Amino acid sequence: MHGKGRFSDVPFFETVQEILSHYSCPSTCPAICCKIADINLDEKDMRILRQASKDEADRIESYNEDEEPLYKMHPPCPFLRSDRCGVYGMRPTMCRLFPFNISTMPDALLLFPCDMAASMFKDYVEYYNMLKNPVHAKTIDAFKQSHRSFAIRLNEGLPIQMLVIKIDELLPFKEYLGSRRVHSCSDNIPL
Ligand code: SF4
Ligand code: SF4
Repeated sequence: MHGKGRFSDVPFFETVQEILSHYSCPSTCPAICCKIADINLDEKDMRILRQASKDEADRIESYNEDEEPLYKMHPPCPFLRSDRCGVYGMRPTMCRLFPFNISTMPDALLLFPCDMAASMFKDYVEYYNMLKNPVHAKTIDAFKQSHRSFAIRLNEGLPIQMLVIKIDELLPFKEYLGSRRVHSCSDNIPL
């Protein structure tokens, strides 16, 4: 089982990485994603984190599922340094996917409605409009509403509504972003 990657070997990982390479987080975001939820890690993630900081990695909670060793970091993440990731180049898979989250649906991901996600979602809507296959108005409104209210809801400990995105809709979107070759900084919040 050594080195097995329950999270790090997810099949859509490269697609999401390519999409995210076109965006960056706004300087104003205080690393919300590192402070709000548990981060699950597999053995492959842990092997890399141990190289970054063995002492801190050894303090991460471990558990077993189906006889596989897994790990869980509780928020705020112990690797957070002044609202920046202290192990950025070696961060776990779940962190590399954010603002996407793995869902229980095998054919879909969840999108957390932060500022970077809003920037991406604007392009996603534009792309599907261009294809004359528009994203449903209710979906757009629901995402806008989640984006506008998520900071308040987090402060109040209320659940955050995430957008469900089908993985097969991300593949053409990835190609489209690649053809545009534009990098979007999310400092100007578009929604
Ligand atoms: S992914 Fe979203 S929540 Fe995380 S730092 Fe970037 S903008 Fe903030
Ligand atoms: S490892 Fe880095 S990116 Fe991941 S939660 Fe911790 S500080 Fe954030």
